[in-house]
Amino acid sequence: MPRITSIQTNFENIGVLGKPSEVVVGFFVSKTPVESKAEFLRAAWAQAGFESKTPLYLKQVHSGSVVQFLNGARPAQVPTGDAVLTDSKDAFVVIQAADCLPVLFFDPLKKLIAGAHAGWKGSLLGIVPQVVHRLAHLGSHPENLKIWLGPSIRSCCYEVDVERSVLFPHRVDGGRHIDLVSFNQELLESAGVPKQNIFIDPRCTACSPEGLPSYRREGEKAGRIFACLALR
Ligand SMILES: [Zn+2]
Repeated sequence: MPRITSIQTNFENIGVLGKPSEVVVGFFVSKTPVESKAEFLRAAWAQAGFESKTPLYLKQVHSGSVVQFLNGARPAQVPTGDAVLTDSKDAFVVIQAADCLPVLFFDPLKKLIAGAHAGWKGSLLGIVPQVVHRLAHLGSHPENLKIWLGPSIRSCCYEVDVERSVLFPHRVDGGRHIDLVSFNQELLESAGVPKQNIFIDPRCTACSPEGLPSYRREGEKAGRIFACLALR
């Protein structure tokens, strides 16, 4: 059995995405690497007491690709990409991370949900605003979207080499500590999402006292965060 070390559902911070009558949100943590995502997610979802749904997870590769499952479509195999969206009530979107930024999206009017995985590469490729554009293509208005930026490595701990740091306008005192949250927040606002609809989880994975999985702190043996969202 996969070891699920923490389960949080519709907690104050993530619950801002929508009312419990609209969405189901799950935040699962494994303190060790997860061998079978399917098995882990099935167990965590059931342990949280949620009704059975199909997990829509990805082979995440730090790309700018958005994968969509509409009108009941399901993946034949695990798709490659870094964002996933659906209109299905029988499925839930899953983003895993261990320092990278997990982002969840909800359109309460069009009843669409999405998740994105944004590290420095994906952020530069615009994976987060890419989801807003894809949702707009499906009829969403950016001003209606509710978006949650989850725990990730924050500028306090995210020091990178000079070559990488100069790619980012958001640096602490112009140095080598980059701020992916502000970077993505600004991209979202430029894409038309109101500032008050963007909710930011304040936790830094690398230095949070609760010891969230951090690749930078733990290396290969780091566990994973799974941010999950489903429609009711
Ligand atoms: Zn930190």
